[in-house]
Amino acid sequence: MKTLIKNVLILTMDEHLTVYPNGYLIFENTDILAVGNLSELDKHDCQQVIDGNRAILLPGLINTHTHVGMIPFRSLGDDVPDRLRRFLFPLEKYMTPELAYYSAKYAIAEMQLAGVTSFVDMYYFEDDIARATEKMFARAILGETVIDFPTCDTTEAHGGLNYCRHFVPKWLGHELITPAIAPHAPNTNSKKALIEAAKMAEQFNVPITLHVAEMDYEMAHFAKEYNQTPVEYLADINFLSERVIAAHCIHLTEKDIAILQRYQTKVAHCIGANTKSAKGVAPVKEMQANGIDVGLGTDGPSSGNTLDLFSQMKLFANFHKTTLCDRSAYPASEIVKIATIGGAKVMGMANKIGSLQPGKKADFIMVETQSANMFPIFDPYAALVYSANAANVQHVFINGVEVVRNKQLCHHSLSAIRQDLDDTMQEFRRQAARLAAQ
Ligand SMILES: [Zn+2]
Repeated sequence: MKTLIKNVLILTMDEHLTVYPNGYLIFENTDILAVGNLSELDKHDCQQVIDGNRAILLPGLINTHTHVGMIPFRSLGDDVPDRLRRFLFPLEKYMTPELAYYSAKYAIAEMQLAGVTSFVDMYYFEDDIARATEKMFARAILGETVIDFPTCDTTEAHGGLNYCRHFVPKWLGHELITPAIAPHAPNTNSKKALIEAAKMAEQFNVPITLHVAEMDYEMAHFAKEYNQTPVEYLADINFLSERVIAAHCIHLTEKDIAILQRYQTKVAHCIGANTKSAKGVAPVKEMQANGIDVGLGTDGPSSGNTLDLFSQMKLFANFHKTTLCDRSAYPASEIVKIATIGGAKVMGMANKIGSLQPGKKADFIMVETQSANMFPIFDPYAALVYSANAANVQHVFINGVEVVRNKQLCHHSLSAIRQDLDDTMQEFRRQAARLAAQ
């Protein structure tokens, strides 16, 4: 069936940043067929016509780093230093396949309601998370964690590697899901495990994602043990490549940036999580000036408390402009670019998603302009970055399928998903309360 959407302002996010103030978009099945000025559309044979009511129509937002299994951790130990080792690692013992599954469904619902159509995940029980992703109809790269101690889904250190031997081939070739390997960080894996993970990713031709240059103690560890930065170390052991999505990259030297550029490694920039935890502001301007692809990430719901990218776009503008002491450092269009086509490049999917062009997949969102906070609009990019919030997302399409209509999930009940998660969280909640009281 062909669908025409009209009466919308379209931000194509193509390489010329073409804008159609009174635009139309036609898609059929999974693909975009046409996009342009409505005045130039003479006739059409679309079976369905949707009036966009002056919404801003743009590509779906892309969250390049998150942990969808971690909804149960949200708002726990938010102001505690070293929260990772104090709360997250101990509580992950109580993570179960059911909890990961229901958490993922909830997180994906939350993202879709906020206009996120694609995401990159790293967690445990990724097979269950893949089932949830398939059920919720989202586009994703799903990375199974590899770490140097036994975890909730493996009894051995680096057991994630064995998990991947089954998980990756099982989901290879799926239309929306790309399986991946996710070593937790360079300092939480042996050299041998990192090399094996990189080799396996190459063998299966899948992405690999990990946290890099995020923690002070990570930097100190590599300085002390190897007289290197984590990026230098990863280059040294032949880990880096264009298939690597490195999250955070806060503490980079000029040499690190040159290394990331040389290997065409992608970067998931998590401004909200990084500044909430007082870790610093990654040198995104320098990375981009050196041709490194950067996308936005929220990090997990416990790190940034939200999975929406409107908040991240705003934080990005505020922090980077302040750090650079330059109000004009990032025009709003550049920030929307990072959240859309930038993320698509990080995912290695810029040929399919990230901009609205004929032949690309119909992943797009419509942001209404009727709410109080959306008037007036002089610059639609600025309206998205500075005025809009996730609650303005009205309709969401993924691969040509409408997943959100009029701010509601089309095929699922948010309250039922929430109830399922709540029911599954009982033991986890007890353990979290016990830890918090210590
Ligand atoms: Zn993370």
